[in-house]
Amino acid sequence: MEYLGQYKAVYKAKAGCEDILSKAQDGGIVTAMFAYALETGIIDGAIVAGPGEEAYKPEPMIATTVDELLAARGTKYSISPNMALIKEATRSYGLDKIGIVGTPCQIQAVRKAQLYPIGMRDVPDKIALALGIFCMENFPYQGLYQMVEDHCATKIDNVTKMDIGKGKFSVYTERGVNAQIPLKVTHKYEQPGCHVCLDYVANLADISTGSVGTPDGWSTVFVRSAAGEAAFNKAVDAGWIIAESMDGVKPGLELVTKLATEKITKNQKYIEHRAHAEHEALKPLRNPYI
Ligand code: FAD
Repeated sequence: MEYLGQYKAVYKAKAGCEDILSKAQDGGIVTAMFAYALETGIIDGAIVAGPGEEAYKPEPMIATTVDELLAARGTKYSISPNMALIKEATRSYGLDKIGIVGTPCQIQAVRKAQLYPIGMRDVPDKIALALGIFCMENFPYQGLYQMVEDHCATKIDNVTKMDIGKGKFSVYTERGVNAQIPLKVTHKYEQPGCHVCLDYVANLADISTGSVGTPDGWSTVFVRSAAGEAAFNKAVDAGWIIAESMDGVKPGLELVTKLATEKITKNQKYIEHRAHAEHEALKPLRNPYI
């Protein structure tokens, strides 16, 4: 369990509301949690990956209404620098209780900003709900574009959903699954920074969620912090989220653990390899006579 981080509880869960689920990536947990938190004053806004000007090119956005949260549903497999809006949220928007969603690296950045608030004066006590999404890797937009347009022979403007799962990158249009390519084809487009990441399930989030482990239409949810636990339990009680035990769920935590272990051990090896390579590369620069 080392690679799954600390957590208070883990669930198979989904949003209790069809409007959220209809265009959610998985169980709509991120949107349902933020919508509930917004409606009940746990947060007064959330930084999400909004739709950008180009299809699937995310644009960080401060959502202060449920409609804005709904507009930001779904995974965009490209970098959405949500952290970049954190000061804007406190200062220009005057938010006192911020929600933020991010990949594991982004949630690490949130926690770092809280611990060492250099240039982040207004931030540390204003993060009310940090939701982490599982992440194996991310892609620069140009790479994603080529995966869709070249390898999947699909116009990115026609795509209604993208998904990574069961070893495949899948692209959907109005007609359903339009194309699938094996992940070995997408590896070369991965953002190199992802290869030094040692977190698969957003260990530092208040709540983290992903599709792996639970059946289609559901999410695996780790409730990690006291703040996360309080908000999640209230959202369940209020019917915004349906949560069930993970006991007996297939493929369950076994698969989450397997993927987390694979990511971390592979990247750990790469970090060691890089340190060694850098050491070797610096050798010629040393004076051989001393
Ligand atoms: P929804 O209710 O649909 O909301 C999704 C939320 O995520 C929205 O608020 C949206 O703004 C935000 N978001 C979308 N794209 C990004 C982005 N690029 N950066 C930051 N925030 C974003 N899950 C797994 O189980 N295994 C994986 O290996 C995995 N890899 C992923 C890789 C990437 C690059 C990303 C972005 C996500 C990955 N996920 C993975 C998470 C999964 O795709 C879903 O995002 C997650 O299950 C949440 O779904 P939902 O239905 O609860 O969210």
